[in-house]
Amino acid sequence: MRETLVLNASFEPLSTVSLRRAVVLIMQDKAVVEHAHTGLRVRAESVDLPVPQVIRLCRYVRVPFRPRAPWSRRGVLVRDRHRCAYCGRRASTVDHLVPRSQGGADSWLNTVAACATDNHRKADRTPTQAGMRLLARPFEPTPGDALLLALGLGESTALPEWLRVPGAAPAA
Ligand SMILES: [Zn+2]
Repeated sequence: MRETLVLNASFEPLSTVSLRRAVVLIMQDKAVVEHAHTGLRVRAESVDLPVPQVIRLCRYVRVPFRPRAPWSRRGVLVRDRHRCAYCGRRASTVDHLVPRSQGGADSWLNTVAACATDNHRKADRTPTQAGMRLLARPFEPTPGDALLLALGLGESTALPEWLRVPGAAPAA
């Protein structure tokens, strides 16, 4: 997949994102194109842009995670956008899928954001033992995820349907 380098407003390189995410950032006026492919354009519906190779954010962004960020409770809440993994309501606590009492680790893949009610209901059990279903799987944030989260764009939001397949085509 084609990747676009993202610079902070200070020109400091932050990470790479997929082409379609770069296009979304430009269309939402969150970034400007610093450097583009000559002769390659993205064309879809109302969009006709040169394929961006480097974009720069319009506003300076403090990225909440470093690459290979150490696990933290705050990081889990930011990653999950303060949404409970069990009911989707506002979460203020961090739940261990495999409870620490059963040897579960403080790790990105073993923890999710949870509301106090669900955390209390699940108690010292795994989701299976408690008969509770996860709405989404936990993931280890990449620098790209961290950047999109800092910009308020989650993994499954803000992507128009027609951008799900990148529309890069050679110019005529
Ligand atoms: Zn909940």
